[in-house]
Amino acid sequence: MAKAERRNGVPVKATDPLYILYTSGTTGQPKGVVRDNGGHAVALRWTMTNIYTSSRRGVLGGVGRGWVVGHSYIVYAPLLTGCTTVVFEGKPVGTPDPGTFWRVIEQHKVGTLFTAPTAFRAIKREDPDANYLKKYDLSHFRALFLAGERSDPDTLHWAEDNLNVPVIDHWWQTETGWAISGNPLGVHLFPIKYGSATRPMPGWDVRVLNAELKEVPRGDIGAICVKLPLPPGTLPTLWNADERFKKSYLADYPGYYQTGDAGFVDDDGYVYVMARTDDIINVAGHRLSTGAMEEVLSSHKDVAECAVIGVADDLKGQVPLGFVCLKAGVTRPHEEIVKEVVQLVREQIGPVADFKRALVVDRLPKTRSGKILRGTMQKIADSQDYKMPATIDDPGILPEIADALRLLGYAGGKNAKP
Ligand code: AMP
Repeated sequence: MAKAERRNGVPVKATDPLYILYTSGTTGQPKGVVRDNGGHAVALRWTMTNIYTSSRRGVLGGVGRGWVVGHSYIVYAPLLTGCTTVVFEGKPVGTPDPGTFWRVIEQHKVGTLFTAPTAFRAIKREDPDANYLKKYDLSHFRALFLAGERSDPDTLHWAEDNLNVPVIDHWWQTETGWAISGNPLGVHLFPIKYGSATRPMPGWDVRVLNAELKEVPRGDIGAICVKLPLPPGTLPTLWNADERFKKSYLADYPGYYQTGDAGFVDDDGYVYVMARTDDIINVAGHRLSTGAMEEVLSSHKDVAECAVIGVADDLKGQVPLGFVCLKAGVTRPHEEIVKEVVQLVREQIGPVADFKRALVVDRLPKTRSGKILRGTMQKIADSQDYKMPATIDDPGILPEIADALRLLGYAGGKNAKP
């Protein structure tokens, strides 16, 4: 720095691109979400005060810069506000103990912490009685914000009981750059309803639509959409892909932005985000396409067909589980093939996919039109009630899947062993 030449800022237009952040698509082809300068600055500055209650004197701590949350609230929003920001890189447990977050909060007098629920699940698993937390002075700490995936009520309660501050679950996407729904702590704290990401933030006209493009009654599940125009700070397009932008987000529900999430709004206007409308799964806050993993499994020489589903996991929210049917005449040990497909996904998609679990089955349940019943398989793996799909081809395959899951210790889904 001592040797560096001083450079002045370069003026840009409000509509010039600020950064591009890639997010996974169903086809496995990532989408380059474009962020602009002007709208983004307005939205972030407003939310710093009115959602996060952070001021010039405040300190915001955040986890994970490579994620949109890190861009918005570790880098840009605190800088625009003149607020100190603490970047935490590393794991919340084993560094060297599950008290790392609390130590950093005490040391830097952090007022607000923003992270993904998976971090709290990890801490809770290692320190269920919050003994490490009790060692630190958290008198400056005012609020915890969670996003990236559904916050399960258990984790929310644990965090609330032990931190004694509001714990806010809020819902957003790489595409939106800031919260679609949340609890605007700086204006008014709405009562917390567990399982809900609270209410739409100013600028967001959230509607739940059915396949006929009609709004569904309150409480009914549908595609969560946002009536256009979108508020400032949201994506103006995809990088070098205007048509793909329109096709992905604007075409299916004319006049609306399609979030790709499914859920409902209750009588009090609280938003509940339940799942992706397609087959994207969320592993520790990372969005991953099961379709992309299936592509890799199918590339193995002994695999005839396959399916990948997301099963519930206490720590990571969801983890992928693969089912492979072998080509006829293959007599090699199943364990060997499973090892190989796990390795293939690791090589081609990366360790972030956390693809460690796969089993060999004789056949996959399908509809008469040949679509694999992934949703039903996921319910069986997670021990949830399910209805026999009316369009199923051979109902006898479902018990086979259940048996295979049980035999390998996967039934129940929770904490499926790798
Ligand atoms: P990303 O763009 O990688 O941040 O992922 C955005 C997706 O994560 C959303 O479309 C939701 O499916 C999910 N998500 C983010 N925050 C929440 C939340 N608070 N509750 C439920 N799902 C969430």
